[in-house]
Amino acid sequence: MKICRSISCLQKELPAAGKREIGFVPTMGALHQGHLSLVRRCREENGLVVVSIFVNPAQFGPTEDLQRYPRDPEKDIAMLENENVDLLFMPDNGEIYPQPYRTYVNVEGLDSGLCGRTRPVHFRGVATVVLKLLNLVRPQRAYFGQKDAQQAMIIRQMVRDLNLPVRIRVMPIVRDGDGLALSSRNAYLSPPERQAALLLPNSLQKAAALVRCGVGESRIIRESMQIELDRDPLLVTEYISIVRLDDLQDIPAVEPGNTLIAAAVRAGRTRLIDNLLLGDLSC
Ligand code: AMP
Repeated sequence: MKICRSISCLQKELPAAGKREIGFVPTMGALHQGHLSLVRRCREENGLVVVSIFVNPAQFGPTEDLQRYPRDPEKDIAMLENENVDLLFMPDNGEIYPQPYRTYVNVEGLDSGLCGRTRPVHFRGVATVVLKLLNLVRPQRAYFGQKDAQQAMIIRQMVRDLNLPVRIRVMPIVRDGDGLALSSRNAYLSPPERQAALLLPNSLQKAAALVRCGVGESRIIRESMQIELDRDPLLVTEYISIVRLDDLQDIPAVEPGNTLIAAAVRAGRTRLIDNLLLGDLSC
Protein backbone atom coordinates (compact mmCIF):
# COMPACT_ATOMS: atom_id res chain seq x y z
CA MET A 1 0.00 0.00 0.00
CA LYS A 2 1.38 3.37 -1.05
CA ILE A 3 0.90 6.14 1.53
CA CYS A 4 0.63 9.71 0.25
CA ARG A 5 0.70 12.64 2.67
CA SER A 6 0.74 15.31 -0.01
CA ILE A 7 -1.42 16.22 -3.00
CA SER A 8 1.65 16.11 -5.26
CA CYS A 9 2.28 12.48 -4.22
CA LEU A 10 -1.37 11.64 -5.02
CA GLN A 11 -1.10 13.30 -8.41
CA LYS A 12 2.03 11.30 -9.17
CA GLU A 13 0.58 7.96 -8.04
CA LEU A 14 -2.95 8.11 -9.50
CA PRO A 15 -2.00 8.17 -13.20
CA ALA A 16 -0.06 4.97 -12.53
CA ALA A 17 -3.45 3.30 -12.04
CA GLY A 18 -3.75 3.31 -15.83
CA LYS A 19 -7.18 2.25 -17.05
CA ARG A 20 -8.24 0.68 -13.75
CA GLU A 21 -11.46 2.05 -12.25
CA ILE A 22 -10.87 3.99 -9.03
CA GLY A 23 -12.95 3.39 -5.91
CA PHE A 24 -12.64 5.80 -2.99
CA VAL A 25 -13.48 5.56 0.74
CA PRO A 26 -13.12 8.82 2.70
CA THR A 27 -12.73 8.40 6.48
CA MET A 28 -11.53 10.19 9.61
CA GLY A 29 -9.56 7.15 10.78
CA ALA A 30 -9.82 5.25 14.09
CA LEU A 31 -11.03 2.53 11.78
CA HIS A 32 -13.47 -0.23 12.71
CA GLN A 33 -15.45 -2.93 10.92
CA GLY A 34 -17.96 -0.35 9.67
CA HIS A 35 -15.21 1.42 7.73
CA LEU A 36 -13.82 -1.92 6.56
CA SER A 37 -17.22 -2.94 5.16
CA LEU A 38 -16.94 0.06 2.82
CA VAL A 39 -13.33 -0.78 1.94
CA ARG A 40 -14.25 -4.40 1.16
CA ARG A 41 -17.11 -3.41 -1.13
CA CYS A 42 -14.83 -0.90 -2.77
CA ARG A 43 -12.20 -3.62 -3.30
CA GLU A 44 -14.82 -5.89 -4.92
CA GLU A 45 -16.05 -3.25 -7.34
CA ASN A 46 -12.91 -1.38 -8.42
CA GLY A 47 -9.46 -2.00 -9.84
CA LEU A 48 -7.75 0.60 -7.64
CA VAL A 49 -8.80 1.25 -4.04
CA VAL A 50 -8.02 4.64 -2.49
CA VAL A 51 -8.79 5.40 1.18
CA SER A 52 -8.32 8.75 2.88
CA ILE A 53 -7.81 9.46 6.56
CA PHE A 54 -8.32 13.11 7.43
CA VAL A 55 -9.86 14.47 10.64
CA ASN A 56 -11.53 17.40 8.94
CA PRO A 57 -11.47 20.50 11.19
CA ALA A 58 -14.11 22.24 9.04
CA GLN A 59 -16.82 19.80 10.15
CA PHE A 60 -16.29 20.31 13.89
CA GLY A 61 -17.95 23.19 15.73
CA PRO A 62 -15.86 25.32 18.13
CA THR A 63 -17.07 23.39 21.20
CA GLU A 64 -16.87 19.91 19.62
CA ASP A 65 -14.37 17.08 20.01
CA LEU A 66 -11.80 17.88 17.26
CA GLN A 67 -8.83 17.83 19.65
CA ARG A 68 -9.74 14.60 21.40
CA TYR A 69 -11.14 12.77 18.33
CA PRO A 70 -9.58 9.24 18.46
CA ARG A 71 -6.49 8.83 16.29
CA ASP A 72 -4.50 5.63 15.77
CA PRO A 73 -2.68 5.91 12.43
CA GLU A 74 -0.40 2.89 12.94
CA LYS A 75 -3.31 0.57 13.62
CA ASP A 76 -5.32 2.08 10.74
CA ILE A 77 -2.43 1.52 8.32
CA ALA A 78 -2.12 -2.13 9.38
CA MET A 79 -5.87 -2.67 8.93
CA LEU A 80 -5.85 -1.12 5.45
CA GLU A 81 -2.75 -3.10 4.40
CA ASN A 82 -4.68 -6.19 5.39
CA GLU A 83 -7.57 -5.23 3.08
CA ASN A 84 -5.28 -4.82 0.07
CA VAL A 85 -5.86 -1.10 -0.23
CA ASP A 86 -3.70 0.34 -3.01
CA LEU A 87 -3.31 3.93 -1.88
CA LEU A 88 -3.84 5.71 1.44
CA PHE A 89 -4.09 9.51 1.40
CA MET A 90 -3.28 11.03 4.81
CA PRO A 91 -2.91 14.78 4.34
CA ASP A 92 -2.39 17.31 7.12
CA ASN A 93 -4.60 20.36 7.62
CA GLY A 94 -2.32 22.69 5.67
CA GLU A 95 -2.46 20.43 2.63
CA ILE A 96 -6.28 20.51 2.48
CA TYR A 97 -6.84 24.05 3.77
CA PRO A 98 -3.88 26.20 2.68
CA GLN A 99 -4.26 29.65 4.20
CA PRO A 100 -6.09 31.80 3.38
CA TYR A 101 -8.88 29.30 2.67
CA ARG A 102 -12.23 30.82 1.62
CA THR A 103 -14.43 28.42 -0.39
CA TYR A 104 -17.16 26.26 1.17
CA VAL A 105 -20.05 24.16 -0.17
CA ASN A 106 -23.56 24.50 1.28
CA VAL A 107 -26.16 21.94 0.27
CA GLU A 108 -29.16 24.05 1.10
CA GLY A 109 -32.24 22.65 2.78
CA LEU A 110 -30.73 19.25 3.61
CA ASP A 111 -28.20 20.55 6.11
CA SER A 112 -30.36 22.35 8.67
CA GLY A 113 -32.56 19.57 10.15
CA LEU A 114 -31.59 16.44 12.12
CA CYS A 115 -27.89 16.75 13.08
CA GLY A 116 -27.69 20.18 11.41
CA ARG A 117 -29.85 21.66 14.15
CA THR A 118 -27.14 21.28 16.80
CA ARG A 119 -24.17 21.15 14.40
CA PRO A 120 -24.71 24.22 12.20
CA VAL A 121 -21.34 24.15 10.38
CA HIS A 122 -20.96 20.37 10.24
CA PHE A 123 -22.40 19.54 6.82
CA ARG A 124 -20.81 22.57 5.18
CA GLY A 125 -17.49 21.14 6.35
CA VAL A 126 -18.37 17.62 5.19
CA ALA A 127 -19.55 18.71 1.72
CA THR A 128 -16.48 20.92 1.27
CA VAL A 129 -13.93 18.27 2.17
CA VAL A 130 -15.71 15.53 0.20
CA LEU A 131 -15.85 17.74 -2.90
CA LYS A 132 -12.13 18.52 -2.52
CA LEU A 133 -11.26 14.84 -2.04
CA LEU A 134 -13.40 13.78 -5.03
CA ASN A 135 -11.63 16.42 -7.14
CA LEU A 136 -8.25 15.13 -6.02
CA VAL A 137 -8.90 11.38 -6.33
CA ARG A 138 -11.33 11.44 -9.32
CA PRO A 139 -12.92 8.09 -8.47
CA GLN A 140 -15.60 6.32 -10.51
CA ARG A 141 -17.25 5.25 -7.24
CA ALA A 142 -17.18 6.61 -3.68
CA TYR A 143 -18.40 4.71 -0.62
CA PHE A 144 -20.30 6.05 2.39
CA GLY A 145 -22.17 4.49 5.34
CA GLN A 146 -25.90 4.64 6.06
CA LYS A 147 -24.79 5.24 9.67
CA ASP A 148 -24.45 8.88 8.58
CA ALA A 149 -27.60 8.88 6.45
CA GLN A 150 -28.01 12.67 6.35
CA GLN A 151 -24.39 13.00 5.22
CA ALA A 152 -24.98 10.42 2.47
CA MET A 153 -28.08 12.26 1.21
CA ILE A 154 -26.20 15.57 1.22
CA ILE A 155 -23.30 14.09 -0.76
CA ARG A 156 -25.73 12.52 -3.26
CA GLN A 157 -27.44 15.88 -3.73
CA MET A 158 -24.10 17.69 -4.14
CA VAL A 159 -22.96 15.16 -6.74
CA ARG A 160 -26.22 15.62 -8.68
CA ASP A 161 -26.25 19.41 -8.38
CA LEU A 162 -22.62 19.86 -9.41
CA ASN A 163 -22.61 17.14 -12.11
CA LEU A 164 -19.73 15.29 -10.50
CA PRO A 165 -18.73 12.19 -12.50
CA VAL A 166 -18.87 9.75 -9.57
CA ARG A 167 -21.32 7.13 -8.37
CA ILE A 168 -22.14 7.34 -4.64
CA ARG A 169 -22.58 3.94 -3.00
CA VAL A 170 -24.17 3.78 0.47
CA MET A 171 -23.53 0.70 2.61
CA PRO A 172 -25.63 -0.68 5.51
CA ILE A 173 -24.87 0.07 9.17
CA VAL A 174 -22.43 -2.38 10.78
CA ARG A 175 -23.25 -3.09 14.45
CA ASP A 176 -21.66 -4.74 17.45
CA GLY A 177 -23.16 -8.08 18.49
CA ASP A 178 -25.48 -6.32 20.95
CA GLY A 179 -26.82 -3.91 18.33
CA LEU A 180 -24.85 -0.72 18.99
CA ALA A 181 -23.80 0.85 15.69
CA LEU A 182 -20.01 0.87 15.38
CA SER A 183 -18.54 4.35 15.67
CA SER A 184 -15.06 5.72 16.32
CA ARG A 185 -16.67 7.71 19.14
CA ASN A 186 -17.81 4.55 20.97
CA ALA A 187 -14.25 4.49 22.35
CA TYR A 188 -15.19 7.46 24.56
CA LEU A 189 -17.97 5.57 26.38
CA SER A 190 -17.56 4.42 29.99
CA PRO A 191 -19.02 0.94 30.71
CA PRO A 192 -22.30 2.37 32.13
CA GLU A 193 -22.59 4.77 29.18
CA ARG A 194 -21.92 1.92 26.75
CA GLN A 195 -24.76 -0.02 28.42
CA ALA A 196 -27.13 2.97 28.28
CA ALA A 197 -26.22 3.59 24.62
CA LEU A 198 -27.92 0.31 23.70
CA LEU A 199 -31.24 2.04 24.23
CA LEU A 200 -30.58 3.92 20.98
CA PRO A 201 -30.71 0.86 18.67
CA ASN A 202 -33.40 -0.61 20.92
CA SER A 203 -35.58 2.46 20.40
CA LEU A 204 -35.22 2.05 16.63
CA GLN A 205 -36.20 -1.60 16.97
CA LYS A 206 -39.32 -0.45 18.82
CA ALA A 207 -40.07 1.90 15.93
CA ALA A 208 -39.56 -0.90 13.41
CA ALA A 209 -41.93 -3.16 15.36
CA LEU A 210 -44.61 -0.46 15.40
CA VAL A 211 -44.30 0.09 11.66
CA ARG A 212 -44.51 -3.68 11.09
CA CYS A 213 -47.73 -3.71 13.11
CA GLY A 214 -49.20 -0.98 10.91
CA VAL A 215 -48.60 2.01 13.20
CA GLY A 216 -47.40 4.77 10.89
CA GLU A 217 -48.11 7.97 12.79
CA SER A 218 -44.83 9.77 13.44
CA ARG A 219 -45.93 11.20 16.79
CA ILE A 220 -46.74 7.77 18.19
CA ILE A 221 -43.47 6.29 16.92
CA ARG A 222 -41.45 9.18 18.37
CA GLU A 223 -43.20 8.88 21.74
CA SER A 224 -42.49 5.17 21.90
CA MET A 225 -38.81 5.78 21.08
CA GLN A 226 -38.59 8.54 23.68
CA ILE A 227 -39.97 6.21 26.38
CA GLU A 228 -37.25 3.69 25.50
CA LEU A 229 -34.47 6.32 25.53
CA ASP A 230 -35.71 7.70 28.87
CA ARG A 231 -35.14 4.33 30.54
CA ASP A 232 -31.61 5.36 31.47
CA PRO A 233 -30.94 8.83 32.86
CA LEU A 234 -27.38 8.67 31.46
CA LEU A 235 -28.87 9.29 28.00
CA VAL A 236 -30.02 12.74 26.93
CA THR A 237 -32.05 12.82 23.73
CA GLU A 238 -30.98 15.42 21.18
CA TYR A 239 -33.58 14.57 18.55
CA ILE A 240 -35.88 11.87 17.28
CA SER A 241 -36.92 12.66 13.71
CA ILE A 242 -39.07 10.96 11.15
CA VAL A 243 -38.35 12.45 7.75
CA ARG A 244 -38.86 11.80 4.07
CA LEU A 245 -35.67 10.26 2.74
CA ASP A 246 -35.34 12.36 -0.39
CA ASP A 247 -35.75 15.84 1.13
CA LEU A 248 -35.21 15.13 4.88
CA GLN A 249 -38.41 17.02 5.74
CA ASP A 250 -40.51 15.96 8.77
CA ILE A 251 -43.53 13.88 7.82
CA PRO A 252 -46.68 13.21 9.90
CA ALA A 253 -46.67 9.49 9.05
CA VAL A 254 -44.12 7.07 7.65
CA GLU A 255 -44.14 6.67 3.89
CA PRO A 256 -43.08 3.09 3.14
CA GLY A 257 -40.05 3.06 0.89
CA ASN A 258 -39.15 6.71 1.51
CA THR A 259 -38.67 7.27 5.24
CA LEU A 260 -35.72 7.78 7.55
CA ILE A 261 -36.21 7.39 11.30
CA ALA A 262 -33.16 8.95 12.94
CA ALA A 263 -32.10 9.80 16.47
CA ALA A 264 -29.19 11.41 18.27
CA VAL A 265 -28.41 11.13 21.98
CA ARG A 266 -25.68 12.18 24.33
CA ALA A 267 -24.18 9.75 26.81
CA GLY A 268 -22.04 11.96 29.01
CA ARG A 269 -19.87 14.01 26.64
CA THR A 270 -20.31 11.54 23.79
CA ARG A 271 -22.77 12.18 20.99
CA LEU A 272 -24.19 9.09 19.29
CA ILE A 273 -26.42 8.76 16.23
CA ASP A 274 -28.32 5.88 14.70
CA ASN A 275 -31.11 5.40 12.19
CA LEU A 276 -33.52 3.08 10.51
CA LEU A 277 -34.34 3.25 6.86
CA LEU A 278 -37.73 2.38 5.42
CA GLY A 279 -36.47 2.51 1.86
CA ASP A 280 -33.29 2.00 -0.09
CA LEU A 281 -30.08 4.02 -0.08
CA SER A 282 -27.96 1.31 -1.60
CA CYS A 283 -27.39 2.40 -5.19
P1 AMP B 1 -15.98 8.55 9.68
O1 AMP B 1 -14.58 8.04 9.81
O2 AMP B 1 -16.76 8.51 10.95
O3 AMP B 1 -16.04 9.89 8.97
O4 AMP B 1 -16.71 7.53 8.71
C1 AMP B 1 -16.24 7.26 7.42
C2 AMP B 1 -17.30 6.50 6.65
O5 AMP B 1 -17.59 5.28 7.33
C3 AMP B 1 -18.63 7.29 6.57
O6 AMP B 1 -19.17 7.14 5.26
C4 AMP B 1 -19.47 6.61 7.60
O7 AMP B 1 -20.86 6.69 7.34
C5 AMP B 1 -18.98 5.17 7.51
N1 AMP B 1 -19.30 4.45 8.74
C6 AMP B 1 -19.04 4.83 10.01
N2 AMP B 1 -19.55 3.95 10.91
C7 AMP B 1 -20.15 2.98 10.17
C8 AMP B 1 -20.88 1.81 10.51
N3 AMP B 1 -21.09 1.42 11.77
N4 AMP B 1 -21.36 1.05 9.49
C9 AMP B 1 -21.16 1.43 8.19
N5 AMP B 1 -20.50 2.53 7.81
C10 AMP B 1 -19.99 3.30 8.79
